[in-house]
Amino acid sequence: MPNILPKLETLEAWFITGSQHLYGDEALAKVAEHSQQVAAALDGDAEIPVRVVFKPVVTRPEEVCQLIDEANAAPNCVGLIAWMHTFSPAKMWIAGLSNLNKPLLHLHTQFNRELPWQTIDMDFMNLNQSAHGGREFGFMCSRLRVARKVVVGHWDDAQVRGEVGTWTRAAAARHDLRSARIARIGDNMREVAVTEGDKVAAQITFGYSVNGYGLGDVAAFVSHATEADVDRLCSEYDETYAMANSLKPNGPHRPSLRDAARIELGLRGFLESEGFVGYTDTFENLHGLKQLPGIASQRLMADGYGFGAEGDWKAAALVRASKVMAAGLSGGTSFMEDYTYHLSPDGSQVLGAHMLEVCPTIAADRPKCEIHPLGIGGKEDPVRLVFDTPAGPAVNATVVDLGNRFRMVLNEVDVVTPPDPMSKLPVARALWEPKPNLKTAAAAWIYAGGSHHPVFSQALTAQHYEDFAEMTGIELVVINSDTRLRELKNQLLLGDLRKD
Ligand code: MN
Repeated sequence: MPNILPKLETLEAWFITGSQHLYGDEALAKVAEHSQQVAAALDGDAEIPVRVVFKPVVTRPEEVCQLIDEANAAPNCVGLIAWMHTFSPAKMWIAGLSNLNKPLLHLHTQFNRELPWQTIDMDFMNLNQSAHGGREFGFMCSRLRVARKVVVGHWDDAQVRGEVGTWTRAAAARHDLRSARIARIGDNMREVAVTEGDKVAAQITFGYSVNGYGLGDVAAFVSHATEADVDRLCSEYDETYAMANSLKPNGPHRPSLRDAARIELGLRGFLESEGFVGYTDTFENLHGLKQLPGIASQRLMADGYGFGAEGDWKAAALVRASKVMAAGLSGGTSFMEDYTYHLSPDGSQVLGAHMLEVCPTIAADRPKCEIHPLGIGGKEDPVRLVFDTPAGPAVNATVVDLGNRFRMVLNEVDVVTPPDPMSKLPVARALWEPKPNLKTAAAAWIYAGGSHHPVFSQALTAQHYEDFAEMTGIELVVINSDTRLRELKNQLLLGDLRKD
């Protein structure tokens, strides 16, 4: 099935170099030559998934303004990378930066890596003066309260390029969300609080729109699925997954597999018909569908759709953003739920899962395709993919609506291998140990108001989400090995004092 993620190599970060006319044409020609070299090096690095596009050196306020206006309007430009090779008096940046509506990365680098001890003279000093040029630019960004990421180090260092790459992934996700459309199918699980929120505020903050649709809108597409398409999709299931015997051709539950395939075809058709990149459903509102979409939602997530269960549109949007950030990286990303605990004196763990909807990109092995009863929802038994998740580092992230602002809560975790295969558990799952430990992490998450529906990713790090939070202007609470509850409570208090 088609992957619907944007191709990151078609997106651009514009490389903009600040200078002035004080140094003369010869020096400016050198600045431009160096800038082209740095931009080309970043562009050619596989760690930076978007194109890095060199733009002519700016030396006057009008040039800054014009370039920033062009960047704002360019449909493929996800953000600006600014470098002050020389000293660029920062009043010339006021008008342009005031208009900037895309993310900014301040690359605080120097063309020369090392000081040429034997030959250094004033010409060298005048050409390599990022050390104070970057500070002048930094003052103006702070003075204007321009959100930006500052990356320090030589442009040829792998770590510096990695930081630029991480930022471009966040910028690509922000860019994608600005025009993203999320379908809230069947509204919300009744009485649930954290899945609600201000959709208008979300659209202002993140750009994505959330609109409601009835189940009949989806059911119409499900009923239009042809038998030939259902045959073809069932064959794809047979080839891709380890099928339970009862679901195999001529097995007693084969008709249920066909129903599941029909639901997947219908959901895809519905989402494609209006260009949605994410959706929610709820088991309490499934009129016209025979089963709660299980394998359908799992496979749609794997193709890049954002998904949130029980009407959780904020989760759907964050799954989508995470999928865009993670495009091309190893490790999967899924909608998740903190389901149940292992509270042992020898170390406590969280078993994460959902009723059905966990993305197979996080499967350790070939998923099993199974059918089991679902105790809630009053529908027929749903087909689902069942698998474990490989051990290793991961993050859980969520966005909640606090009424006057959005807060992202993130926890770094380690996925571990269960001591027993849990052979009776009929859903996909991940077992993890939160940092610094479950006791502190769960308390911190709960104090911060984090939802039970995080996005779980083995492809992304806290840094991706930190960059994303900063460029969307939302609060971020990170829970990791450094977390101390008393400090965290003070951080939450400071967040509440923030004027947004
Ligand atoms: Mn749930």
